[in-house]
Amino acid sequence: MFFNKHNENKPKEKIGIMGGTFDPIHYGHLVIAEQVRSKYNLDKVMFIPTGNPPHKEALGVTSSKHRYFMTLLATVTNSYFEVSKMEIDRDEVSYTINTLKCLKRENEDADLYFITGADAICQLDTWKNVDELVNLCKFIAATRPGHSSQEVNDKVHELKNKYHAEIEIIDIPALSISSTDIRDRVNKGHSIKYLLPEPVEYYIYKNFLYMD
Ligand code: ATP
Ligand code: MG
Repeated sequence: MFFNKHNENKPKEKIGIMGGTFDPIHYGHLVIAEQVRSKYNLDKVMFIPTGNPPHKEALGVTSSKHRYFMTLLATVTNSYFEVSKMEIDRDEVSYTINTLKCLKRENEDADLYFITGADAICQLDTWKNVDELVNLCKFIAATRPGHSSQEVNDKVHELKNKYHAEIEIIDIPALSISSTDIRDRVNKGHSIKYLLPEPVEYYIYKNFLYMD
């Protein structure tokens, strides 16, 4: 067991960080966050919706206010889950490196676990200041349909060699759900029931999201 440097008797806090556009949040996100929380005994998982996502065309992304509310609605039934506005409240483009530095400053003694899906970890190379980022957190990459375990294992091996990154792959029950697919279904008038929590589904219809 690792102990807090300021208080020898208190075990180190373990915080999961779940970043995403959450446009909208769905069961794929919730399942990976909960599986990682339980496997690594995390004290909490912070969901951090992006403000201006650097990897997506800001124009096509739903307003951060809606994405934040949907994330709140989806996480309210899990006492380990929290939602942070830190990226939304920032004026400039959000980079994970800035967010992680800030979280590390605020939680000096905690271990940070950055939770991603297989697609995101395969792109880690393109993130800003990866070499610095890998010293701030451990990465937990969840399997995701569309990315073979061979592909993910090879990529993770490469990243570990290149950056000495701490990355673990976690096998989760496959959910072939994506926000892109949900937006598309809403746009075509198809059902999205059971792909995401019901309050989020109602929120989408109430606010006419994804309908053009
Ligand atoms: P979009 O289709 O808009 O890209 P998305 O479903 O990929 O949306 P994001 O908000 O981009 O959702 O993802 C946030 C994080 O959740 C990423 O690390 C992504 O890999 C992970 N993730 C999303 N859906 C799944 C899923 N079904 N299985 C495993 N990981 C997932
Ligand atoms: Mg995505």
